[in-house]
Amino acid sequence: SVRWGLIGASTIARQFMINAIRAQGDGEIVAVMSSSPERATDYARENNIPLAVSTLDAVLSTDIDAVYISTTNELHLEQALAAAKAGKHVLCEKPLALTSADARTMVAAAKAAGIVLGTNHHLRNAGAHRAMREAIAAGRIGKPIAACVFHAVYLPENLQGWRITKPEAGGGVVLDITVHDADTLRFVLGDDPVEVSAFTQSAGMAGSGLEDGAMCIWRFKSCLIAQSHEGFTTKFADTGFEVHGSEGSLIARNVMTQKPIGSVTLRTAKGEEDLRFDREDLYARSLRQFHAAIRGEGQPSATGEDGIWSLAAAEAALQSASSGKAVKIDPKL
Ligand code: NDP
Repeated sequence: SVRWGLIGASTIARQFMINAIRAQGDGEIVAVMSSSPERATDYARENNIPLAVSTLDAVLSTDIDAVYISTTNELHLEQALAAAKAGKHVLCEKPLALTSADARTMVAAAKAAGIVLGTNHHLRNAGAHRAMREAIAAGRIGKPIAACVFHAVYLPENLQGWRITKPEAGGGVVLDITVHDADTLRFVLGDDPVEVSAFTQSAGMAGSGLEDGAMCIWRFKSCLIAQSHEGFTTKFADTGFEVHGSEGSLIARNVMTQKPIGSVTLRTAKGEEDLRFDREDLYARSLRQFHAAIRGEGQPSATGEDGIWSLAAAEAALQSASSGKAVKIDPKL
């Protein structure tokens, strides 16, 4: 079995990851760490976790195999480095850190310690995105030419905290959502972005100089160009993902989400076909892959290197927005 410690008494763990770990026949949650002893105890009681601790040392000296890090973004680096040093596998939330340089430090530490490091880019686990990736790889749209990602949402009230008030915690929509879009584009297209041009806005929700909306234009190695829209402030927008090729288009709706929902339509000279895909829970699949990686079978669905890539892309988007110039993307891998 895989014994897990949770680092961070977070919403994402409560809503998705605790269930995803327990959905694995061999997954067990042994401890939760919060910076507040009181919150740790409450969280442990509410979620049936045997042990509540309030320091990193305490969780890492527990008999666990792996940690899931879902604290605010400025804490991931230190916590992942300590976990690697203690020989624990690390599944870390995105963005891996506040800078791609720090993310590279994490990946190097994981390698040195011989532990598995994964980035929790859940969308790679969506049946919809995997169906799109397979269709593209099989040549069903010919040569991919352009892509659009629609990922502007309304940030739920219970999450209107550090994301819109704390630059020092890695707030802002670019570190929150653009990282996912960059990763999903890489995954679906099987291609890497080389350059980005971005505009960001503060449309009334985020303060402290943070952005709550972004539009990015990406150039990929293959010459494909893509656009993505991320936001916290649009109450009535749908999400979607389109890839247009020389022989066809893939049109996916309602797929930039945490749930296994949505549709993917392939449109070619022959007409339209709705692609079928599996509806497994995204986070449960992420965990299954991670457990397999611990056993030495394959890689996590998104690796540490993938986390470096998505953060380097987001970083370049922020630089572009502040400089008014297109910025090259270099993950230095
Ligand atoms: P939360 O705001 O719910 O939790 C982050 C931290 O805030 C917790 O670790 C906790 O600190 C503290 N906290 C939580 N609730 C309270 C409270 N009521 N009072 C005081 N402090 C509190 O963040 P999210 O779960 O939304 O995000 C956590 C991480 O997960 C981020 O890195 C984010 O980017 C990522 N994320 C990833 C998603 C994905 O699908 N891959 C989706 C959502 C988030 P402490 O642990 O010290 O108690």
